[in-house]
Amino acid sequence: MQVIRLHALSDNYIFLLHDDTHNIAAVVDPAEAEPVLQELAALKAELVGILNTHHHHDHVGGNQQLMQQFPHVTVYGGEEDRGRIPGQQVFLQDGSRVQFGDRTAEVIFVPGHTRAHIAYYFPPNQVSGTGDLFCGDTLFAGGCGRLFEGTPTQMVDSLTKLRALPDNTLVWCAHEYTLKNLQFALTVDSDNTDLQRRYDEVKSYRSRGEATVPSLLGVEKLTNPFLRWEQPSLQLTVNSNEPVQTFARIRGLKDKFS
Ligand code: ZN
Ligand code: FE
Repeated sequence: MQVIRLHALSDNYIFLLHDDTHNIAAVVDPAEAEPVLQELAALKAELVGILNTHHHHDHVGGNQQLMQQFPHVTVYGGEEDRGRIPGQQVFLQDGSRVQFGDRTAEVIFVPGHTRAHIAYYFPPNQVSGTGDLFCGDTLFAGGCGRLFEGTPTQMVDSLTKLRALPDNTLVWCAHEYTLKNLQFALTVDSDNTDLQRRYDEVKSYRSRGEATVPSLLGVEKLTNPFLRWEQPSLQLTVNSNEPVQTFARIRGLKDKFS
């Protein structure tokens, strides 16, 4: 399975999963249809699946047009999103599985950004060596999604599940927010040398117009303040000794930052 990153809207990424043995493709969070249709035409591949992480328009905006072009496509989303995802046919829960070619994704229920958000995790196989996590707007490179429909407790539970995945997991998040996220991260975790190094790297990537997604989960664990609510230095910054409160206060500061 090859993952092709497509740009959409102002800062969204759409991920096209391509299985060249069977010449099929699946798409994660098609913000719009056009870039997906172009890539499918170039690959001469048939679209068999639409994997939605949550109902926001910048993640499902292309569903209907893609369904018109590929009437046999299956549209997946979370059970709790019933009625909110255009064309949804499969209603997934924590632990559900989605098969694509010879790979199978495990569904992880990650409420917080929305109450229904799910992530798709493809464990590593002999060919890939790394796992692939499609986490929508829950975990970002250097950050996490805003809490529109969930509580800090829910988001900490969700991020705890993602944090438990192996370090060599590729994090395919849905937006290019990394530079801004790391600018914020430095304001709450200024002494973190891994973070300082990552910020410099990302700054030079972005100055060349290069994407910073996917990132590596092992790097997120070391540098993303929204996975580090147990770190004494972060707790000190926000004057708390309680993990969820630490997370909530960092999230609150980020809401004001951008
Ligand atoms: Zn969203
Ligand atoms: Fe989004």
